[in-house]
Amino acid sequence: MSRPVSPVPPSSLSREVAAAGSELHLAERGRELDRTPEFPRREFRALGERHLLGLRTAIGHGGRGLALPDAAAALHGLAYASGTTFAKLVLQPEFCSLLTEHGSAEQRRETFRALTEGRTLVGNHITEPGAGSDAGALSTTARRDGEGYILDGTKSEAAFAVDADSAIVYAQTEASGVTAFLVPQDAPGVDRTLGAPDLGERWMRRGTVRYSGVRLPASARLGPEGGAFAALKDELTRERLLLAAIYLGVGRASFDETVEYVGARAAFGRPLSAQQGVAFPLLEDWGRLDSGWLYVERALARLQAGDDVAAEAALAKRMATDTALLAIDHAIQFHGGRGYSSGLPHERRYRDVRSGGIAHGPSEVLLRTAGGRLWPRPERGRSG
Ligand SMILES: Cc1cc2nc3c(=O)[nH]c(=O)nc-3n(C[C@H](O)[C@H](O)[C@H](O)COP(=O)(O)OP(=O)(O)OC[C@H]3O[C@@H](n4cnc5c(N)ncnc54)[C@H](O)[C@@H]3O)c2cc1C
Repeated sequence: MSRPVSPVPPSSLSREVAAAGSELHLAERGRELDRTPEFPRREFRALGERHLLGLRTAIGHGGRGLALPDAAAALHGLAYASGTTFAKLVLQPEFCSLLTEHGSAEQRRETFRALTEGRTLVGNHITEPGAGSDAGALSTTARRDGEGYILDGTKSEAAFAVDADSAIVYAQTEASGVTAFLVPQDAPGVDRTLGAPDLGERWMRRGTVRYSGVRLPASARLGPEGGAFAALKDELTRERLLLAAIYLGVGRASFDETVEYVGARAAFGRPLSAQQGVAFPLLEDWGRLDSGWLYVERALARLQAGDDVAAEAALAKRMATDTALLAIDHAIQFHGGRGYSSGLPHERRYRDVRSGGIAHGPSEVLLRTAGGRLWPRPERGRSG
């Protein structure tokens, strides 16, 4: 039996990321965080010190300034070795590009650079009890008050609800639409509650944040009033493609382990791999994982060259999530009783990747986004 060759090109960066992963024991730590959820500050800081947070982020902003396909290959490798947790940590600066593109010099220096160094954690507060997928329907408000604003509303489902040091909060500003603000989480009027434990990605410790009469200076605003969603368009495209790379990496790990296992495990007098009922689904996984990666890589290369690939990014995340979940499900099935147990990594990988169908745009909403390319319609809203 020879293992299928991965379509993801090895590089000096992926070797460096792999070395950091084994020095910091990220695979073991990921398992521990599932059992005892907390924000992994020590590892976040250690990744920052190694300049591994914000792989694509410009060097001037504290990142590595890598080309998108190189960053994606490194994230795929990290997810392959240790699951979604640390690959998503590496992506944190990517979720806060409004700070570099619209933040003040102080916000870039004090917050964004500290984020790329793993010294501060910035949340994103979009979803509300009454509006998630349809982010244009947000009801949190930021009322003008002299030179500044007063923020009122409730944000729900938020990752790092009680752990973030600051958050980018999306609110309606008078008649102009949705505007983003950087809000310190220790400001008077901010009340944070941890939610019920999640199916997976438990280290994110999601919950609810209430803003009651929170006073913000005008300098807290990121970009023009009403400009939040336009400003986010490029970030969403990048993050969806990079998340797709992560999910494919996790699915690939379960696939490789299963190929090896079914080649060695005998039942009914021959290896499981000799049963077409076992081999055929795995062969289809192989094709889907390889072609999924090639699709992501091509979309990233086109994005790097300046093309609009928002529709492809939406499709890539949707397809990568489904591809990875199916491959991991096959891993659970073909490892039999052990596959269903937390003694093997597949069940945790399944729980972690399952969030991909909801967070950063639910799967159906991604299809809606992609459909806008084929059948153009006015866009409204963003999904967190
Ligand atoms: C692990 C995780 C981390 C998250 N982190 C954050 C965070 O940090 N900050 C934040 O703001 N939010 C966060 N979220 C919330 C997430 O962004 C929202 O849950 C998501 O946008 C969906 O919004 P909703 O929950 O209100 O679902 P709803 O909008 O009520 O939709 C429910 C479901 O209906 C379906 N649906 C919705 N619209 C359509 C449509 N037009 N066509 C067909 N089907 C549709 C989808 O299946 C969707 O999942 C996180 C969620 C998860 C799971």
